[in-house]
Amino acid sequence: MSIFDLTIAVAARALAAKQISSVELVTAYNGAVAALNPRLNAFITTTPDLALAQAKAADARIAAGEATPLTGIPLAMKDLFCTAGVRTTAASKILEPFIPPYESTVSGKLKTAGAVMLGKANLDEFAMGSSNITSGYGPVENPWKRTGSDARLVPGGSSGGSAAAVAARMALGATGTDTGGSIRQPAAFTGLAGIKPTYGRCSRYGIIAFASSLDQAGPMARNVEDCALLLNAMAGFDERDSTSAQRAVPDFTTALNRGVKGLRIGIPAEYRLEGTNPEILALWDKGLAWLRAAGAEIVDISLPHTQYGLPVYYIVAPAEASSNLARYDGVRFGARVDGVDLIDMYERTRAAGFGAEVKRRIMIGTYVLSHGYYDAYYLKAQKVRNLILRDFTEAFAKVDAILTPTAPSAAFGLGEKMDDPVTMYLNDVFTVPASLAGVPAMSVPAGLSSEGLPLGLQVIGRHFDEETVFAVSAALEKAAGFTALPELRAK
Ligand code: GLN
Repeated sequence: MSIFDLTIAVAARALAAKQISSVELVTAYNGAVAALNPRLNAFITTTPDLALAQAKAADARIAAGEATPLTGIPLAMKDLFCTAGVRTTAASKILEPFIPPYESTVSGKLKTAGAVMLGKANLDEFAMGSSNITSGYGPVENPWKRTGSDARLVPGGSSGGSAAAVAARMALGATGTDTGGSIRQPAAFTGLAGIKPTYGRCSRYGIIAFASSLDQAGPMARNVEDCALLLNAMAGFDERDSTSAQRAVPDFTTALNRGVKGLRIGIPAEYRLEGTNPEILALWDKGLAWLRAAGAEIVDISLPHTQYGLPVYYIVAPAEASSNLARYDGVRFGARVDGVDLIDMYERTRAAGFGAEVKRRIMIGTYVLSHGYYDAYYLKAQKVRNLILRDFTEAFAKVDAILTPTAPSAAFGLGEKMDDPVTMYLNDVFTVPASLAGVPAMSVPAGLSSEGLPLGLQVIGRHFDEETVFAVSAALEKAAGFTALPELRAK
């Protein structure tokens, strides 16, 4: 087996058995990054020397018998997590020179577990997007190709660099963040597993804020088990994030073999959208047949406010973003463009530092929060958000988990869907409701499209019941037996 075909779980066992060292592993993955990143642009910043130093420390720790399952494992870190001493850009020009003096809680926890950081993964600017096209550091290329075509495809977004890095075998796993689908949709577009945990499960401290009431960190990896191993280390209460939950973190790996016997799986009628690719609907039917065959009971449910998910999200998220991004004023963080006076300096800095999508969101956000429109838009959206949450609460009185497609299409071409932002926003139709409700949701690779591209199914669970999400996802993964590999990858 090639070193690039290892999963985190298998690599951890090989490290523990001293069949391989972290230095060997990290040297190979540093090499893969050096070879593939110039083409795929999955990393904004690579940190090969730091990775090697961490690998040496990991080998010493393994020798001392003090390893965790992540000790010595090379990972990609989404460039939205502040990393002490390592440039953190959020894929924005406005943060180009920003070197955080402190570490985000999640990246710090991974460090403490002994994980190795290969570099900072590319993303849509400030995590606003579904394709990585809005990055200020150039788009990411999806390592997958349509059969018989050389067209460059997007890896999804916003965690597209993380997704491409893992799919192309440049890293064993990655961190992502998900505000409206940014872990799940890129995972689906690149044939990976990825979970957005319950809001509050992982600390947001040190994660550059997009929409604070929605942002959640989570793992992306080659399979469901690796996601469980990563989430074990990433999750937990943090007194520095007042919205992080005071809840014990279970060992998520123990849920993987639970099976689905006797579980009730809900199929929401409202997700059967007109115009959805029939292949995606067929895969969804396959998914429910797999779960039924594994002993689950399939239950038709209704999430009646689903159609308001996107409009609510595209009011709430920009509103919070416009306020979060007010801090980039040329004074405290990152770039500054001097002007004739203070206001002129603000304007020049923000005009030069933010890209078009970020500016669009700031304008929408300030508009819906402005006097005279606040009640009509923002307040109304908050009320409808509550109804969406209630839909889920009522559904979870009847079922243990919900199965849906992750995205309405497979990966699309670089440059497609760019003329009209609304077409791009439609990508999030299946992922946004779980974000608004704060419930955990995972994407599992479940099949290939007729064009040979990966498709994902989404498992949604109750608040803080990631264990059931893992159990159902593991059962789906087993039934799907997804083994296809992208064309562009380290071998
Ligand atoms: N695609 C969505 C957006 O553009 C979600 C992004 C995210 O989850 N960070 O806002």
